[in-house]
This record gives sequence, structure tokens and C-alpha cells, in this order.
Amino acid sequence: MNDLQPLNYKIHLEPDLQRFQFSGTTEIVIDAPEKVDEIPLNALDLAVWGCQVKVDGTFRDSPFSVDAKKEELRVYLPDPMTGKIELKIDYVGEINNKMAGFYRSKYVARGKEKYMAVTQFEESDARRAFPCFDHPVKKATFDVEIVAGRGLVAISNGPVIKETPVEDGRTLITFQQTPKMSTYLLFFAVGEFTFIEDPGEVLVRVATIPGMKKYGRFGLKFGRKSLEFSEAYYDIKYPLPKLDLIAIADFAAGAMENWGAITFRENLLLHFPAVTSKAGRERICEVIAHEMAHQWFGNLVTPSDWKYLWLNESFATYFGSGVVDHYYPEWDVWDQFLHGQTGSSLERDSLWETFPIEIPGGEHVVINASTAPIIYSKGGSILRQVEGYVGHDNFKEGLRVYLKKHEYACASSHHLWDALEGVSEKPISKMMKSWIEQPGFPIVEVNREEDRLILTQKRFTYLPRDSEQEWQIPVAIKIFDNHGGSKVVKTLLDLKRTVIDIGPDVAGYKVNEGQTGFYRVKYKEKGNLEELGRRVADNGFSREDRWGLQNDLYALVKKGDIPLDEYLDFISSYSNEKAFLPLISIASNLFHAFLVMEGSKRERVASVGRGLVERVFEDIGYEPRPDEKHSLSILREPLIWDAVMYGSENVKAFALDQFSSLVAGKKIHPDIVKSVMQIGAWNGDDETFEWFDRSLGSSGSEHERMNILTALGCFGKRDLIEKTLNYVLTNVPDRNKFIPIGILGANPQAIPLMWEWYRDHVEPLEQFHPVHYERVIAAIVPLSGIGKEEEVRGFFDDYMQQKEKARGVIKLSLEKLEINSRMRSS
Ligand SMILES: [Zn+2]
Repeated sequence: MNDLQPLNYKIHLEPDLQRFQFSGTTEIVIDAPEKVDEIPLNALDLAVWGCQVKVDGTFRDSPFSVDAKKEELRVYLPDPMTGKIELKIDYVGEINNKMAGFYRSKYVARGKEKYMAVTQFEESDARRAFPCFDHPVKKATFDVEIVAGRGLVAISNGPVIKETPVEDGRTLITFQQTPKMSTYLLFFAVGEFTFIEDPGEVLVRVATIPGMKKYGRFGLKFGRKSLEFSEAYYDIKYPLPKLDLIAIADFAAGAMENWGAITFRENLLLHFPAVTSKAGRERICEVIAHEMAHQWFGNLVTPSDWKYLWLNESFATYFGSGVVDHYYPEWDVWDQFLHGQTGSSLERDSLWETFPIEIPGGEHVVINASTAPIIYSKGGSILRQVEGYVGHDNFKEGLRVYLKKHEYACASSHHLWDALEGVSEKPISKMMKSWIEQPGFPIVEVNREEDRLILTQKRFTYLPRDSEQEWQIPVAIKIFDNHGGSKVVKTLLDLKRTVIDIGPDVAGYKVNEGQTGFYRVKYKEKGNLEELGRRVADNGFSREDRWGLQNDLYALVKKGDIPLDEYLDFISSYSNEKAFLPLISIASNLFHAFLVMEGSKRERVASVGRGLVERVFEDIGYEPRPDEKHSLSILREPLIWDAVMYGSENVKAFALDQFSSLVAGKKIHPDIVKSVMQIGAWNGDDETFEWFDRSLGSSGSEHERMNILTALGCFGKRDLIEKTLNYVLTNVPDRNKFIPIGILGANPQAIPLMWEWYRDHVEPLEQFHPVHYERVIAAIVPLSGIGKEEEVRGFFDDYMQQKEKARGVIKLSLEKLEINSRMRSS
């Protein structure tokens, strides 16, 4: 990277929503500490037609060259220059349909198809809208002005400071200069936006297409709450006068934290009373809180390189739960965090095909199905581990020091350690290095020798391979005596092997008390596991511990260490389990086993699963009750689908009865309507298909459309599965094509068809947004490839020799396939 430092960009844009084009002029003020004779900028898919350099106070034409492959525009200076250099570049670009750069988003208003133009720049697509130094470390201020067509509204990071009428009824809209920030956080949009507002010291608004703003009220309220929480927790005021939450129809990711102008998929911001489920409402809160955390972690303090992207995403993930828990403690969102973030990242990170949270190299980091579970979920879980280690107050104080010290600038991992270590006076740097800079995580094996516990650590992976890696593991052990008492022993396991005296009179011991540590545990002493099982049955553990015990055991099944039957026997201890966290985890482990196994083994899983799920329904009922616990409402939905897959006639009869009512136009409770639709499709015929097609066309909310798209992936009959696959490619909007395909990847009737379908449709699938294409591979290969391993492997060997696409996701999907295949043949 060069030493050139941009100071300010002045960006003038004239978007044409009829022709999907824009013309632009960008003026850049650059500081050159040493003499240079040319300026390299990033530019992609821009037709540059003029470059000028300011010499003696006037802009003069200057030669330039474009290298499309390097995504570079090079401006040649008339003479070598140093100090302040000013450039002016004129160009035109396309308002593209790639959901990246400056792109168009389609929507229907009053029965008419319309478009808005919006931006999405992370990680490196700002260069599609204006020539720039497109790297997070090159922070500058931005002055944006946009000429908007008649009746259109423009939004950018700052508030509008001036509107000037120009020819043809258009308006030149000028925005307040931004704070010093990175290019990937810039935002601008033009369309028929309407707003609802919450005035205050900071104006908070929700922006939607016409007719939708009333559904923004819930998000607006929670946006304000998140803002208040963040300002108080970080002890730094939000620096802009306004904050917009903007719903965008066509959106590739979930949301984007542009400073002062956060964008969302519609279903992650808009709340439809009586349509949005409790899970959907919670997700809205979580995503708003996540993006709000970024206004500090990312926007105010930015990673000095993409390899430190975890400094953004791990914190946003962590506070995505933390803020929601603060306002809705009764939702138990940390339980969902353990299942959804910690559980899924332990899964992801058990593959050899993984990488450290701080990504080595890091020049081309992309957030996708391979990287997100590490940077977001594992990173967030490690922060929870650190907080457990240094304590809540030190954690908060350390973050305040870190943010204050690096505001409006960039930081790398060690800056965070320095802050936490300074505040807590604990050896954070050494400990965190082992978690952030090396791939994978450990398993702690524990054995009892007389009055002592012997703890050893090694890397945990599903497939065998030698590793000498070690971690600094904060370990907490709960020790039970024979008289109903217990104590917790804490230590830092910083060697391969540690011995702990526990004294006589020990009935049992549970390692990773409270499950704050990011590691697996294996008990070599069989009697101890049996004792822990008895205590699970007697409700002698927290729900976190009940979750961890069985989940670690299932990981050993996948590793091939213990037979599946041992897991199935152990979970009989959970026959009275009532809590969301252990139940959702057992349910997903059983469903994985159900999809992987065949014959009598699959039948045993189905029988255990059916017993468990039917018993849970006896407790909680099929239909949601008004006063029931939030997390039980969330648990019910997936269990309805699981129960029918396991052959539960009662649950099936209930769901089909509900589905008939739905088709007859009756309202179904929003917390079960998705699974009711799924079972309707599972049992459905051509008429059902037509009904879904009509419903998708007439639905007014993205939340409902997501439910329908999920159900489309659940048909049980072969011809309808094939019909769905065609329908997805031709009739479903690009942003949502991956949804039914992902569901079909875990539909027992579709799994045998999916590999061939993928192989025969690679070309249209490659046209998906890269992140969506990768999700398709990750959803299909690990299960549909079982029994066809050689063909699948051969196909991708050829594929990867020819193409750069999806390499990381292909490798991890092949590894998962190998693990599943081994489990089936065990
Ligand atoms: Zn994020």
C-alpha cells in the first residue's frame, strides 16, 4: 500500500432510474507525503471520460489509464507533486442488478413495478460508484450531492443541508459532510422513500417504500433503545445528527451498518403485527442492535486491515444479543446465542478446513458461509469467554478505553488486548493470541486418578490429523461431594497437561461450568458421565450445563469416538427437560443423525426423536398460549416439522388441519404458520403448489414471503420437488432464490435428487450473488453427496482447477461430506 492519504471526497451524482445509469464527478483531495508522479485509485465498471489535476488553482486535463483486471484507475500528474493534490474525475456507470456497488432494487407500489437506486459497498464495492482509495485504513471526509428526479428523495450518511431546484424538475440535494471514515461505510440512495421519525438529540428515522412506513414503528422504537444503550455502555456519544434505518427490497446480506444510514432486508426491519413471529421480532431487534454496535465498532474505530474484521463482527454479534437481553431479559437470548452462535461455530471450527479469527493475509476477506461462523459466531463466543475471565466491569471499561483511544482512526487486535490487559491486569494478550491467531479450538480430556483430576488438551477436529497446538484455556470445574454440596474450582489451563487436587469425597465433576469456555470436554471416566446424567435428570445443572453435556457428547459421535447409541442412551436423562436451550440442541443433533443415518439406525433416531418431541408437545401444547415463555414459542416451530419427519401422526394431523384452515382463508398463529405451511407442502399436491404460487405473488410482507419460500422447499413428492427447483430459478427474485434450495438440501425426500440437480444447473446457479451461490453448495453437498463421494470429489477437483469461485466453501462442504459418510457407515 502507498502512503497517499485521501483527505476529502466531493461526490456529485446524477442517477437516471429509467436507463439504470448514473453520471458522476468525484473530486479528491489527497495528501502526498513524498513526491509522486501518478495516483493509483480503485475503480470498477466505471467509464471514466476525464481526469483533471489542480495546478496553480485551476483544474487541467491529465492523462490516465484504466486496468479493469486490477480494478484500477491511474492518473498521471503533469509534474511530480507533493503535499496537497486535488483530482477531478468524470465518469458514467451502470445502476447494476448485482446487489453490490450502486445498484437497483425492484419493488411493487400501487400495483406498479418500480425501482430505487441504493448502495452496498462492503468490502470493496465503493469503487463501483466512484474512484477512490478503497481500503478501510484510507479514511477521509465525504461531501455527497445528488441530483434526484422529480418526486424522488435522496438519502446519504449525513442529513440534507440544501435543496436546489435544477432543470427538468430535478433537485440538487446536498448532504452534510461526514465524519472521517472508510469508503465501505459511505451510502447514498434515490427513490420514493417515506419516513417515520423519532425526533431527539439524534433524529432517528425509518425509511421505506410508499405504504410500508407504518410497519417501521417497532424497529424505530428499538433503534432508539439500542442507540441509548450504546451511548451509555461505550460512554461515547453517537457523532451524527441523524440515524436512518432503511428497508431495501433487494438486498443480498441481512443488513449493512453504513454510518448514519443503516440498510436492512425488509423482514429484518419491518414488523407486521399478527404476521411477524416472535422469532422474527427477536431477529429484528438483534439485527438492529448488531448494526448499532457497528456505529462504534467499525465506523468510529475501524479495522486497519480486513484481517481484523473480527474487531467489527465479533463485537456486533456479541452486542446483538447483549442489547436485546438488556431490554427483554425474559427472552433468554443468551440461550439462543449459545445454540445459534457458540454451537454453530464449534461445529464450523471442528473442520480442518478452517482458519483463525484473525485471518492470515486478509487482503481478500469476504463474509460468506465459510468465514461468517468464525468471524461473527466464534469471535462473539470468545468475547463471552473473555468477559467471563476478566469480569463484566473490566470488560466494559476496557472497551471504553479501546474505543476512546482509536476513535476516527483504525485499530488492530493487539490494541484491544492492550486495553483489556491494562484495565484487568490479567495476561489477556497471551491468552487471546492463542484463541485469535490460531485455527480451531481444543478438547479438554479429563480423568480422575485417586484424589486428583488430570486435564489434558489437544485440538478438536472431526477427522483425525496430528496437531501440536495449545491454548490458554480458562477452565471452571464444578465438583459435587457426596452430601449434596458442590464447589467451583477455576484454573487457567496453559500447558498440555494439568493436575488438580480435588480431595476425597467427590461424587462427580462437570468441566466448563456455565459453558463460558469455547472448548469441548471428554470424560474418560465412564462412571462420572453416568453420574452427570443422573444429575441432569434430577435438574441438578443449569440449562447451559445441560446443553453443553449432551452437545459435547454428540460432537464425539461425529468424531467417531463413541457410537450414536451412546448419545441416544445419554439423552434419556433429558426425559423431563423443559428448557429451550437443551431441547433445541438435542432436536438439531437428532435431526442431523436422522438425515445422515439409514435403515434401522435411522429408525431408532426417529423413534427417540418422536418420543421426545411428542412429550414436549404434551407440556407446551401444539398451539401457542398467550402467556407462554418466549423461547418456547420459538422452540415449537422447528419441532412440528421434526415430529412429522419422525412419523408422529398426531402432530401431522394437527398441522394438516391448520393448513386446511389456512388455505380456506383463516388466520393461523404467526408462531406456527411457517411449520404449518411446511407440513402442508410435505403432504401437498399440484393444487397446493398453485396455492403457494398465488400466495407468494399476493403477499404483502417479506416475512410471509420467507415462510412461503421455506415451505416451497418442503414438498414430499418427487414431481413437486422438481417443479419447485424449476420454479426457483425462473420465478423467485434473485435475493431469495437460495432460500428454498437451502431447505431442499435438508428435506429427506429431496436429498437424493439435489446433487444431480446442482451438477446439471451449475451455470444458472453461478449467476446468483456469490454469497448465495456458496450457501447453495454448503446446503447440498454434505448430505446429498453421501454415497456419491467419488463423483462429487471428482467434479469439484475439475471445477476448482477451472474456476476461482467458492473455493473455501467447496472445501469445507467436502470435509463435512466425508464426516457424514463416515458416520453413516459407522
Ligand atoms: Zn456486522
